[in-house]
Amino acid sequence: MFLVAISGPPGAGKGTQSKLLVQEFGFEYISTGEALRREMAMSTEVGKQIKMLMDQGNLVSDEIVTDIVRDVVKESIEKNARGILFDGYPRTVPQAMLLDEIIEENNIDFIGMIGLEVDENVLINRILLRGKTSGRNDDNEESVKRRLDEYYEKTEPVLDYCKLNGKYFGVDGEGEVDEIHQSINDIIKTYI
Ligand code: AMP
Repeated sequence: MFLVAISGPPGAGKGTQSKLLVQEFGFEYISTGEALRREMAMSTEVGKQIKMLMDQGNLVSDEIVTDIVRDVVKESIEKNARGILFDGYPRTVPQAMLLDEIIEENNIDFIGMIGLEVDENVLINRILLRGKTSGRNDDNEESVKRRLDEYYEKTEPVLDYCKLNGKYFGVDGEGEVDEIHQSINDIIKTYI
């Protein structure tokens, strides 16, 4: 089974590009952000903790997120899926190390991490615009700044970690949606 991860700062277009990739390659899909929002909506004890962290723009703990990922990997293997696309995972170096374990334990073919590269001013404008209709409590100016700080501090080192292993593919995330999709397709198609 193949695995591709898509990363990028908040507002980079991970969700949009993921939907197109799922249509193209028929991969199973997990957005950890969406999975956490579903958990949050259930108002369980864990859901309440998640809400507090997410609303402020902080990352959720590696343990909570990795449990979700493990379940999805297990289900995908049981279904005999062709591949899985991770949207927004791994977001910290410890998560990347846990992912390495999951890959090894399950004999997964990790294609790599696609990083959508977008200038900060473009990101902030995109998110504030999205905030008008997304209904997300973290799509506001204060949370976005915090989310960007979390990204630079904790997620950029993951990209370096992937680069060291030759598993990072940077893509310009500022063009047209279709052009960006094509660039990502070209990368994935060289591996599958
Ligand atoms: P996203 O939908 O990808 O923008 O994620 C929204 C929020 O969910 C983030 O700001 C984090 O609070 C949380 N989140 C999503 N994925 C992760 C992850 N891999 N590790 C920790 N927190 C995450």
